[in-house]
Amino acid sequence: HAKHHNQKAMLFHSQMYEQVSERMNVERHLYHAINNRETERPFTLYYQPQIDTRTGKTKGLEALIRWQHSDWGFVPPNKFIPIAEENGLIIPLGKWILLEACQEMKKMQETEGYCLPISVNLSPRQIAQDDFVEMVETILTETGIDPKFLVLEITETVVMEWIDSSVEKLEQLKKLGVKIALDDFGEKYSSLGYLMKLPIDIVKIDKSFIQNVHEDGGIKKILNKMINLIQHLELEVLIEGVETNEQLAFLQKQKCHFVQGFLFSRPLPIHKLIGCTPVQNT
Ligand code: C2E
Ligand code: CA
Ligand code: CA
Ligand code: CA
Repeated sequence: HAKHHNQKAMLFHSQMYEQVSERMNVERHLYHAINNRETERPFTLYYQPQIDTRTGKTKGLEALIRWQHSDWGFVPPNKFIPIAEENGLIIPLGKWILLEACQEMKKMQETEGYCLPISVNLSPRQIAQDDFVEMVETILTETGIDPKFLVLEITETVVMEWIDSSVEKLEQLKKLGVKIALDDFGEKYSSLGYLMKLPIDIVKIDKSFIQNVHEDGGIKKILNKMINLIQHLELEVLIEGVETNEQLAFLQKQKCHFVQGFLFSRPLPIHKLIGCTPVQNT
């Protein structure tokens, strides 16, 4: 029995060891990639259209980071964003993402004559930086884009950890003219209080809701109530993760018109979207 137990413990240790060493390996490569982001360009922003289902046109884009590693190939954001958040690399990376997205809007304005709003995902740790608002302001000034085209996506975690100062910062950002979206709504804690307390413009309902809507009437009812409540608060509501025509039909019945999902498009490089997609000017 003791021997069996020992073997199990050994196995456990060796799995732990592998996990820890894999993580350290990712961390080392991530550090290198971020330090060489300008010369080697290991990161790219992909964009997923946000659609107004009444017109079928694109009304905005969400920027989603992609890491192309020379040996490992494509590394999904869920594999490295949490690590970058923990070790602080998200600060330089996040700044690069924001600048890149703003430069893309500038380019669009110049070459297409219109600008689609771009949503950028933020990590709590970025907002916690003392000079965060200043950093955003500098990027807006440097690129010269109209702040109303920049949407910053935050999650409830932001406010749970730094409630007072982050609300203040969000308010300062709104004064600049930037829009704020609450991402992944309903995924975790979802205190309705956040909807009142936070200076937000858009609520993005987590994809788990629409993706389970076929299963039972309960989720349909909850989703219906959530949409009504958010619209009642005069906030814009967007449903993420729409994959099927049935899901779309349900949302149209709810008079919920803003959606994002594989049914319309996967996230793509900008050149595959701009000039190929009918857009809606706002
Ligand atoms: P998120 O912000 O909730 O982004 C939506 C995720 O859902 C994206 O995954 C997108 O590709 C995926 N998605 C879109 N439509 C559908 C659909 O119809 N069905 C399904 N099953 N999935 C769909 P992705 O690009 O792998 O990103 C995962 C997460 O990584 C993001 O979740 C976000 O939390 C984080 N992330 C990605 N890019 C960035 C970034 O630039 N900065 C920060 N801080 N986080 C990022
Ligand atoms: Ca997002
Ligand atoms: Ca989301
Ligand atoms: Ca998320």
